[in-house]
Amino acid sequence: MNNRNSITIAFIMAAATSFVIFYAYIKPELAFAILSVFLITVTILWIALAVFKIVTNSNLTTVDISEITSITENLNTEIIIWTDDCSAVFMNKRLRDLLNINSTEFDHKEVLCKVFNIDSVTPEICERLHEKQHDTQFESSTGKTTSIIWSTSLFKKNKKTSLYISTGFNLTEIKSLQSNLKSANDCFALSMELSEIGVLMSRDDSHYYASPEITRMLGLKSDTISFDEFRSYVHPNDRIHYDSCFKWMNSVKHTASDVKNLEMRMKTASGSYRWFSYRFKVIQVADNTFPVFGGAFLDITHDREKDLIIERLAYLDEVTEISNRNKLLKTGQETYDCGRMLEYSYWVIVLDIDRFHIVNDTCGYDNGNKLLRDFAHMLYKYVSPGGLAARISGDNFALILRDYGDNELPARTFSAIQEDLSRLAVNEYASLNLSCSAGYSRMPDDGNSFLDILEHAEFALKSNSRQGNICAYEHGMHDSIIGNSEMEKALSDAIDNNELQLFYQPKISLSTGKIVGVEALVRWIKPDGTIVQPGSFVPIAEGSHLIGRISEFVLNEACRQNMLWQRMGFPHIVMSINFASSDFYQKDLRDKVFEALARSGLEAKWLEVELTESLALRDIDFAVSQMNSLRDLGVKLAMDDFGTGYSSLSYLQILPITLLKLDRSFITDIESDNIAYEIVSAVIRIAKSKKIETIAEGIENETQADILRKAGCDFAQGYLYGKPMPPEDIPAFFEKNNNQYK
Ligand code: C2E
Ligand code: MG
Ligand code: MG
Repeated sequence: MNNRNSITIAFIMAAATSFVIFYAYIKPELAFAILSVFLITVTILWIALAVFKIVTNSNLTTVDISEITSITENLNTEIIIWTDDCSAVFMNKRLRDLLNINSTEFDHKEVLCKVFNIDSVTPEICERLHEKQHDTQFESSTGKTTSIIWSTSLFKKNKKTSLYISTGFNLTEIKSLQSNLKSANDCFALSMELSEIGVLMSRDDSHYYASPEITRMLGLKSDTISFDEFRSYVHPNDRIHYDSCFKWMNSVKHTASDVKNLEMRMKTASGSYRWFSYRFKVIQVADNTFPVFGGAFLDITHDREKDLIIERLAYLDEVTEISNRNKLLKTGQETYDCGRMLEYSYWVIVLDIDRFHIVNDTCGYDNGNKLLRDFAHMLYKYVSPGGLAARISGDNFALILRDYGDNELPARTFSAIQEDLSRLAVNEYASLNLSCSAGYSRMPDDGNSFLDILEHAEFALKSNSRQGNICAYEHGMHDSIIGNSEMEKALSDAIDNNELQLFYQPKISLSTGKIVGVEALVRWIKPDGTIVQPGSFVPIAEGSHLIGRISEFVLNEACRQNMLWQRMGFPHIVMSINFASSDFYQKDLRDKVFEALARSGLEAKWLEVELTESLALRDIDFAVSQMNSLRDLGVKLAMDDFGTGYSSLSYLQILPITLLKLDRSFITDIESDNIAYEIVSAVIRIAKSKKIETIAEGIENETQADILRKAGCDFAQGYLYGKPMPPEDIPAFFEKNNNQYK
């Protein structure tokens, strides 16, 4: 109780006594009662005051410390309770252990000075400790430097002393981690500085960390670049790949991914675009709400330039110098996949120049080719980044356009093209009334792969009843067109009437000259003896269910025939058969092959399946697993027509093939074309390094055979050794070959 309160009470007491005396004087008969009540009241008040004083003036440290200590003793943090006069200091077990103090007898002041890093305990210092957090470092009993941040609160205060409670936050481990991290960071920064490989990692959910190599290559201002800014360096035509990859990276939540590869062009410090490969991985990081990804960033421009030679051969249409069908299929499938990921939609328009043969007939082939070229370049006007214009075949072209939700776009683009074409006709082919027709489908809604979508656009074009018109694909159109096809009906009858027959073309070892195998090539032999080549009916069969029936016949017949030759005592050879895409993607293909082998008794190692690259591209994961299931049976796998399709040597890494067939187009020119020779020998070298055998198709003379033998090619197939022949001619071939190369 303070002085002011005491004066107030004394004053009230004096006033009350005067009042009682005065009242007793004027009412003497009540004097005794009044005095008694007054005395009793004063006594009660006096006792209350005494108790109050005892309580408030009692030694607060003893009472309160005992309460608090029991609560804080075993808490998992350092706690010290102390008075500013150093009369009482209590530490909980954790702090006592740290200071190695076991007894209750210790120098209070010394301990306070040590834990708070202070020279003395003055009211000012106590006030300062109380006001804000206090960072201290002292040596623990083990000799380790201990770092603690103290938060101090005033627990109680009386006239003489204040009782404080300080709670510590031990930073010792964090500080040591920080210093380790700093040295790890320094090492990382140094290795990044010296590395010639760029490293690109997501830093948070909006920025990349770019290593010094990338910063230098792209001419970045700092090693941190926002996702958006980084994207602006990507070539506009490659952004769709980048975007879909980026979306994929961000959709992988908390799971580590396989290593992925993204190839794209990026604007470099010099302003020109270069090719880069980004091999990255999504890394699992616990507690992160966004995926963390990172990987190596490499300039692959030189490799891409080498690939360009192959790409040019494989992807460029010679007449028009725009993309060919292969490029269309490759880019189309990539666009399909990216589109699905990004939920983008596209239009695929197929165009046909009406009565093109008249231009050829009346203006000559050179002018016909010129018209194709002019038309091709005209189409480019309508292609935006991410789209494509390609020549599919003859006078057929295709356009891929981004669909921004405008359903009239195909029709509008078509009429603009029609107008351009008529202007062309007025200027250059004055007497001809040129027009084109078109069919279109929407991607990805109208099919399960790009090939499906393209075929559907082609069906729409075929179903177009009027020339100069455009027609949209509708579901069900496919069936009606197929149903109407006369060729198809005839082919179906031919299968029923056993008009299909297999011819066999020998394959020769280039080192020994001996026959090592034959390729089964299907022929349609009409009742009048005309032989229809597969090029005329296999593509039609591929557009319908008929190919399944043809392939089943080929598979069983080829196995039966090979077994028959073995039983006849001829040398054991490998029988190759060709599979169409729809055959290959059948789920029960393995079972069918297994049954054919079992039925014929042929060992699996004497059967080889030839597949094309385009086929594998349709669904690469499924293709690999299907191929592996055939390999598990013991069947060999060849990649047919290598060099005409996608020709990415990277497929050799992924696809489990045993033989690579170099396409005839390389072999035809190999004597005169140095680039063709360079490509062939490079491919042979790479295949060898992957333990894949090589065979050259279409060898027609000894010079070609010599060149290929020297280049290290294992086998050869071509008219030089033998054309595809009926089975009855093979025994004679065996005999001759056997006599020649004993
Ligand atoms: P392919 O599998 O690449 O077959 C090789 C083609 O090249 C054969 O044509 C063969 O006669 C021809 N050829 C071989 N050596 C020479 C040569 O020295 N010079 C020339 N100019 N040509 C040569 P063919 O028999 O007309 O077959 C064409 C294509 O039809 C085959 O190409 C294959 O893709 C397909 N095909 C053939 N039989 C079948 C089959 O049973 N099923 C499937 N799905 N497709 C088949
Ligand atoms: Mg083949
Ligand atoms: Mg081939």
